[in-house]
Amino acid sequence: MSYDENQPSMPPRRFGRGNLTIVIAALVPTALAGWLAWQVMSGPDENEPPRALPSGSTAAGKPAPPASPSPSATSATASPSPSPSPSKGRAGASGPLAGRVVVVDPGHNPGNFQHTSEINKLVDIGTNRKECDTTGTSTNAGYTEAEFSLDVSQRLRTLLEKQGATVKFTHTNDRPFGPCVDERARIGNKAKADAVISIHADGSAVGNRGFHVILPALVKGGAADTANIVGPSRDLGERIAGKFVRATGSAPSNYVGDGTGLDVREDLGGLNLSVVPKVFIECGNMRDPKDAALLTSSNWRQKAAQGMADGISSYLDR
Ligand code: ZN
Repeated sequence: MSYDENQPSMPPRRFGRGNLTIVIAALVPTALAGWLAWQVMSGPDENEPPRALPSGSTAAGKPAPPASPSPSATSATASPSPSPSPSKGRAGASGPLAGRVVVVDPGHNPGNFQHTSEINKLVDIGTNRKECDTTGTSTNAGYTEAEFSLDVSQRLRTLLEKQGATVKFTHTNDRPFGPCVDERARIGNKAKADAVISIHADGSAVGNRGFHVILPALVKGGAADTANIVGPSRDLGERIAGKFVRATGSAPSNYVGDGTGLDVREDLGGLNLSVVPKVFIECGNMRDPKDAALLTSSNWRQKAAQGMADGISSYLDR
């Protein structure tokens, strides 16, 4: 879930297929355009018009805290799990990404549900003040966004380390709550990361489906100045979106980004305070049953991690 559920992204516009083709040509990267062109030509089952409700306009921002892991939640976190061990120093690692540093930010923290007063405290995000963090969302069966994001993060780390990258996490659910969004940004900055990805899943209305990558807007205020990262972050985000489509077969969001799979936001502290290329990814909508079936599948999460790894590799190899 995005950090500010009260400030939905730009409302989706309705447009016909002819206009969609023009938008594709103008806006989206080649891989995404190819996929979307195929979608337009073949009339898939995911081409419902954009829903009237933007992300966060439902009760999705207030998921019930999961009292205990449900059977489905348990099965969702079981099976081929990536290495749970903390990232090791890879001095002397070989591979195409040797010497490159990637910071992975697993969205939220399972403990946030029990520390709402702490995570509601405001922190300075440069342009304004904002909550330290949010609880994140969950599936209706209680599989939390925080569990999801850490699982995908671990899979991503394994894939990137195989290519020689040094991977650092902002947290591993090893603390009671948080970190706050400003600290998450600082971790990437301090690591002098070549790329940072913050991993999330959304909580929106049923029928709202698909993934989107969030790019930093051009902002300046206080400690926030994204002038140097807007361009490279867009490059990073477009590559991730294209590779994510290819690896998962999932469609770009049908409710954010006008079908491009890309969104630009100026209200996220994790982006505003970053001085290194950074994007967020919302992998799907946990509140939609069809998306939830994907997000709770370990096989699908592996594909999601692969798509992210491919996008990051493509960006770092450019
Ligand atoms: Zn989130």
